[in-house]
Amino acid sequence: MDRSVADIPDVIIVGGGGSGIAAGVSCLERGLKVLLLEKQPQLGGTTGIAVGSFTASGTRHQRRNNIDDNSRDHNEDAGRFARSDVEAAGNCELREFFLSHAADTLDWLEAMGLRFHGPSPEPPNRVPRMHNVIPNAKAYISALHMRFLRLGGHITTNASVAGLLRTDGRVTGVTVDVNGIQRAETSKRGVVLAAGDYANNAQMIAEHKGPTFAAVEGINPDATGDGHRLVASVGGQLRNMSITYGPEFRFVPPPRKSFSQLLPSNPAAVKLMGALLPLVPKFVINAFIKRLLVTWQHPEDALLDDGAILVNKHGRRFCDELASSDREIAVANQPDKVAWILLDEAIIKRYSQWPHFISTAPEIAYAYVDDYLRLRPDVATAAGSLEQLAARRNLPPTELMAAAAGTQKFDGVPQMKRALQGNRWVLLGPVKSYFTTTEGGAAIDTSFRVLDRSGAAITGLYAIGQNGLGGQILWGHGLHIAWAMTSGRLVGKVLAEMDE
Ligand SMILES: Cc1cc2nc3c(=O)[nH]c(=O)nc-3n(C[C@H](O)[C@H](O)[C@H](O)COP(=O)(O)OP(=O)(O)OC[C@H]3O[C@@H](n4cnc5c(N)ncnc54)[C@H](O)[C@@H]3O)c2cc1C
Repeated sequence: MDRSVADIPDVIIVGGGGSGIAAGVSCLERGLKVLLLEKQPQLGGTTGIAVGSFTASGTRHQRRNNIDDNSRDHNEDAGRFARSDVEAAGNCELREFFLSHAADTLDWLEAMGLRFHGPSPEPPNRVPRMHNVIPNAKAYISALHMRFLRLGGHITTNASVAGLLRTDGRVTGVTVDVNGIQRAETSKRGVVLAAGDYANNAQMIAEHKGPTFAAVEGINPDATGDGHRLVASVGGQLRNMSITYGPEFRFVPPPRKSFSQLLPSNPAAVKLMGALLPLVPKFVINAFIKRLLVTWQHPEDALLDDGAILVNKHGRRFCDELASSDREIAVANQPDKVAWILLDEAIIKRYSQWPHFISTAPEIAYAYVDDYLRLRPDVATAAGSLEQLAARRNLPPTELMAAAAGTQKFDGVPQMKRALQGNRWVLLGPVKSYFTTTEGGAAIDTSFRVLDRSGAAITGLYAIGQNGLGGQILWGHGLHIAWAMTSGRLVGKVLAEMDE
């Protein structure tokens, strides 16, 4: 996939995840020459492992379902997902600008062959706004990649951008390490940073969020904040770097590729699946979504509120299960950074039917104890006694029994409300504490230009996706991908319309 033309590109894009390839396609559609540099051997980034929800208002799908909606209402509701102190730190104006363009982005993606299921409700959104791409977020990468190549864009993989080149204050290119060899690449119009988030950069997390969070991993091990470092290297302003999506518990990934990742995502298959979808009975769709639900999912905190306990690989309790945030940090500091959730008979019974579920895609589907035992035997096991249960997961039985009975005494570990008991036991896990993503990003204006600490634009430098969040708080489901795609689409327009 190495570049074969000698011409200097109009635009260099750093990062081949969702926002970067979207930006590339948008530039190419407007006749610009594009060089996309991706540090991994393949495109995708976090976008490639995501579920794929795209939340937007005023869409064709909403109109078809007689839902009257607009971006002002949407922005108001989007501000209700995070805690008030987090929301207060956000850039509400930029978020409204973004939301006012998200529906057009959905149309643009559909014109490339992508298909969406929904809209589905997600309170506190006042109306259904969540559109789920078929079959999962890999489809964005396939469709955009194909279109990028058809339009004549150039991609270099295994190309890690290490620095920015500047001439008279203007960013004119990058230094890039390609298969261990460093070289310079210049561009005529600008450099677009689309290098994702820093969820797995322990040093950045420690610096901005605090050292106690440093042991928490990002779900995407390659989310190392290179683009944020590049912004800072030229005096760019970074906003909201202490705000993260997580830490929260998630089950470790399945040993083999998950069911959803195995589904074909090339445009022809997606079109076919989209065409067949209206004919598929609802219970089949729900069963399919349930499978998605048990991969990468977050076990509900309510399990711990209802008395389930956390144990480490030595079968020991190690924290106050009710202390949110502290318990996530505690898990990240256990041997192998893992823990298990122990459920007794009463808790198993409670979490076997509505309204008590282990995990959910809100208002779409719910997964209960039996769903996990059936679909994820690697992270759910049941037994009639604690000895059997301990043997199945190679945990010390005596310690596990002491943990369940509440007879272990460790500093900082409070007495349980009640001892666990009964004739049926379930261990869920391993769970780890993960950051799903991070909310810090370059300060930008509505032309995606990176701003310096005085608020002035750094000429030639643009940032999009998680790299260029501009201080927005995008909690709830589906806004990060909507932003990645929308900022990518719009930055192409900006670059095409500028004077060279
Ligand atoms: C399990 C999971 C599920 C999710 N589900 C959803 C969802 O359903 N809906 C939603 O809205 N959000 C979801 N998210 C979040 C969302 O997927 C991401 O925030 C979004 O896709 C990020 O897109 P991006 O283009 O900014 O970054 P990425 O897709 O991560 O792309 C960044 C790219 O830049 C490359 N790169 C990094 N550094 C360099 C460098 N120095 N040189 C060259 N290349 C570099 C990376 O390798 C990567 O390919 C999910 C996240 C996770 C972890």
